[in-house]
Amino acid sequence: MKPFEDRIRAIRQKLEEEKVDAAYISFRYNMRYLSGFTGDSGAIVITPGETILFTDGRYTEQASSQAPDFRVVETKMDKDVVADTLSSLGIKSMTFEREHVTFALWENMTKRFKDTKLVPASGWVEKLRAQKTPEEIQAVRKAAELADDAFSMVVSSIRPGVSEREVALELEFTMRKMGSEGVAFPIIVVSGARSSLPHGEPGDKAIEPGDFVTVDFGAVWNGYCSDCTRTFVIEPLDEKHREVYEVVGRAQEAGLQAVRAGVKASDVDAAGRKVIEEAGYGEYFGHGIGHGVGLQVHESPRLGQKSEDILEPGMIVTVEPGVYIPGFGGVRIEDLVVVGDDGPEILTSYPKDLKVLGGGKK
Ligand code: ZN
Ligand code: ZN
Repeated sequence: MKPFEDRIRAIRQKLEEEKVDAAYISFRYNMRYLSGFTGDSGAIVITPGETILFTDGRYTEQASSQAPDFRVVETKMDKDVVADTLSSLGIKSMTFEREHVTFALWENMTKRFKDTKLVPASGWVEKLRAQKTPEEIQAVRKAAELADDAFSMVVSSIRPGVSEREVALELEFTMRKMGSEGVAFPIIVVSGARSSLPHGEPGDKAIEPGDFVTVDFGAVWNGYCSDCTRTFVIEPLDEKHREVYEVVGRAQEAGLQAVRAGVKASDVDAAGRKVIEEAGYGEYFGHGIGHGVGLQVHESPRLGQKSEDILEPGMIVTVEPGVYIPGFGGVRIEDLVVVGDDGPEILTSYPKDLKVLGGGKK
């Protein structure tokens, strides 16, 4: 796997286009993407002729082995190694990551890099990250398979009397035991009326007969995330459950059908939203239909009404419409897909037919 040369070349091309001497990258996922370094402290600087990774003594050994394409320079408390290096290289102008620089870091940089013009740059690395290489797709595929397998084992624990938190813990434990590096995000398990909270945290509430139960979960493999949501009904099933589930199911299918290289991300949202609106539930679908997934669980592109992104082959995105009715409950169905020229390859495989889990006695 030699993706780093291509990525560094792409950044150098941006430097040339924007007529800047160097790019300063400190957002950890972008650092990892460009260098392979997985530590969470440091920064990299790319110039037309140099690739340097600055980090402190805790990480230098790790950085040297993970990022062989970079010269690792140890930062010290008592002198400003970064500023000295920049001036020794004659760097007169340098980009910084507009979205990831805090006010404190900005103050610090303007003080230290006095001789360097700082130029805000947006999304240079994020844009590269959106389109995945086959190796990246394979990592996400592995994460999705692992999460599916763990989920299949845990579904039987979703029953009356068990708390949302217990289900979430069981799923996290199972995923990690099966080799997930962590959770892609804190697992969501919401039941009954609480299932109308799209991103509710699992609580002490016990699952009850007649509840919708929504579980949103993802594993991590080689640093890459997966993301999947399924909603169940606990017996007894009533007509309203069936109707809402059926609408979301059709919306999700319509969204998936719309995923194809070259289409506008907003058209995927529109395809799913139309189904929900026509069924009279439009006001209960308050979020975009999906998002990109990779090193981060939410990354480019965005699939929403206002998105200007265009889907490209190799992007990995979710399709996840939902209907959330306050006081009643909600349904979300989410799949993770690779964008292809002829349509999506679906990476999440847990069945999506309405599944009614045993309720026991009330
Ligand atoms: Zn999700
Ligand atoms: Zn998602």
